Parts: sequence; C-alpha cells; structure tokens
Amino acid sequence: MEHASSRAHSHIASRARSRGCSARQAIVALALLVASAAWPTSAHAQAEPAEAASQPIAVVATTQMVADMLTVVGGPCAQVTTLMGPGIDPHLYRASAGDVDRLSRAELIGYNGFDLEGQLGAVLARLGQRIPTLALAERIAEGVQAARLLEGEDEYEGETDPHLWGAADVWALGTDVAAEVIGQLRPACAEAAAERARDYAAQLDALHDWALASAASVPPTKRTLVTSHDAFAYFGAAYGFDVAGIEGISTESEASIADIRETVELVLETGVPAIFVETTISPRTIEAVQAAVRDRGGDVTIGGELFGDAMGDAGTPEGTYVGMIRHNVGTVVRALGGEVAAWPDALAGWKERWELDRP
Ligand code: ZN
Repeated sequence: MEHASSRAHSHIASRARSRGCSARQAIVALALLVASAAWPTSAHAQAEPAEAASQPIAVVATTQMVADMLTVVGGPCAQVTTLMGPGIDPHLYRASAGDVDRLSRAELIGYNGFDLEGQLGAVLARLGQRIPTLALAERIAEGVQAARLLEGEDEYEGETDPHLWGAADVWALGTDVAAEVIGQLRPACAEAAAERARDYAAQLDALHDWALASAASVPPTKRTLVTSHDAFAYFGAAYGFDVAGIEGISTESEASIADIRETVELVLETGVPAIFVETTISPRTIEAVQAAVRDRGGDVTIGGELFGDAMGDAGTPEGTYVGMIRHNVGTVVRALGGEVAAWPDALAGWKERWELDRP
C-alpha cells in the first residue's frame, strides 16, 4: 500500500537529523585516544597463542540481537557482553568513555551494521583497524537474495534497511557467519561452533515457519502493522503485513502533527483494530493516534508493546532472539484477529528451558 511504502524506513531520516553532533564525537575520539594510550596493544595481541587458545573469545556486541547470535553459536568459546541493553535505541546510542574502553579491550567486536549504530560508526571504524569486527547484518546480506534486501526511501535510496533480524529465516543465515568468525579466532572451537550453528539455524527456520503459520491466520483486511518507528519492514515482508511507522519518533525528534494525522487517516481507512508501541520508544505518539482516531468517531486499541530495536530483559524469555520473535508475532497476530500456531517441536527445548505453558 502506498502509505506503508512511503513511510518505510522513515526512522532513517530521524537518524540523519541527529548526526550534527561533532562535539560529542570529538569527546569520543579523545576518549578513544586515551584508551589507546592506556592499552597500547590490542587484546588479541596481548595473549600468547597457547594461552589465548584456551580462553573464551572476549566478545563485545553492540545490540542484544548480535549478542544472542554470538552467545548461542559461540557457546563456551565466547564470553559475550552487550553494550545496548533493553529499551535502548541503537540509532541514537552514543559511546561513553567506558564503552570505548570495553570495545578497545575486546578480542572480537560484533555489531549489526548498515548504519544501525549510526552514532557509533566512527568508533567502530577506528577500532576495526586493529580489532577483528563482525558486522553481522552486512555479512548476512551477502547471502540474501537481492530481492529480499529492503532499501530506504528518498534520500536514503540505495541504503539497506538495517533491521534484518525481523525475518527469522534471514537472521538464520547469520549462524554460519558467526561460526566462521569464531573458528578463525579459535580453530579448536571451529567444529563445535559449526555444529551449534547448524542446530541454531534449524531452530530459527522452525521459528520462521511458526511465524508464517501464525501470521497466515490474520484476516487479509487486517494485515496492517502500525508501530512507532519502522523497525518492521523485514518482519512485514516475511510474514505478510503492510508496515507503517510514524515518522520522526526517537529520543531526539518528535513525530509531527502531519505524521500523526497521516497515520490516523490510515487507521480509519484500513479499519485496523490495533496499533503498537515499541519498547525503545515513548508511547506518546501512538497514544495520540489512538485519541485522534476516537475523536473522529473510530476506534483502535493499543495492541501491546513490540520489541523493535532491542530485546527484553536478560534472564527472561524475551531476552533471547527466539523469545523476542515469539513475543512480537504473538502480540501482533492476537491483536489483529489471528490465532497463534502450535509451537514447533524443534523449539520444545527452548520452551522447556523458560518453563512456559507447563502443565
Ligand atoms: Zn530502528
């Protein structure tokens, strides 16, 4: 639909508006110089090969999604820490001196790429000159058919939408990539990592099939997904939803009256029963849409909170990639009048681990 396509990736515009922050970048650059001076040799150069080979790889990941992949595939071969926790917007996240310190001592830096971590780009580029890095989404994209890679609109045409984790079958391609990098850094771990990658890929493919089956139950007239920002283009393309994010919502920029009005028109036109807030973004504009729809004599509920650019709390089911997708699919499907499919056998172990729906 026209609205959905014209709004796709509008958050990329909000990212651009936050780019004029040279003073902050200078501070980060300075902190990086200080950090470099304090640790003149990188982590992977410090340890002797024999000693290093027996230690887990010290990984620092930017987002929880990247951390999940490296944790699962790395197993005991990787010690993963995450920079951006639940509720953190990666587009606007800026590195503190402490972050630069942690990154500069990593043996492997995992990040999403495609400019998701816009404010962190310069730091990642500089550290990447001496520390191995993995831009997971960019590596995944190498294995994805061009037709499935989604681009930004207008001035961002030609830039790839970074939210690849929205489609579980696409994200599953990252398992091989993660295993390859782990095997390069710890040859002794290569075989076990490849095996974990195969297992996890099978689970993610099962998750994808479950999401497809669940989404298929939503009536065609209700397949519009209205959210705070456009993290769901891959999700929508994979599972059959038109997506519409409200432009300009972030911690730094607000949606305009026109953005809200346009979304109100869309909700009234489509008659979609529910709209959704996101964990990394204030619910105020979604609430404003709901209020305006009611003023016009329509009605729409807030269907729940989705994990757009960050996962849930560590130690909860939603703190895993599988649980994040399970939550998002379940929330969207139920609110839009569908029914969630039976949980796949391939993921019975995951469900058991989190003690969900036990008799
Ligand atoms: Zn985003």
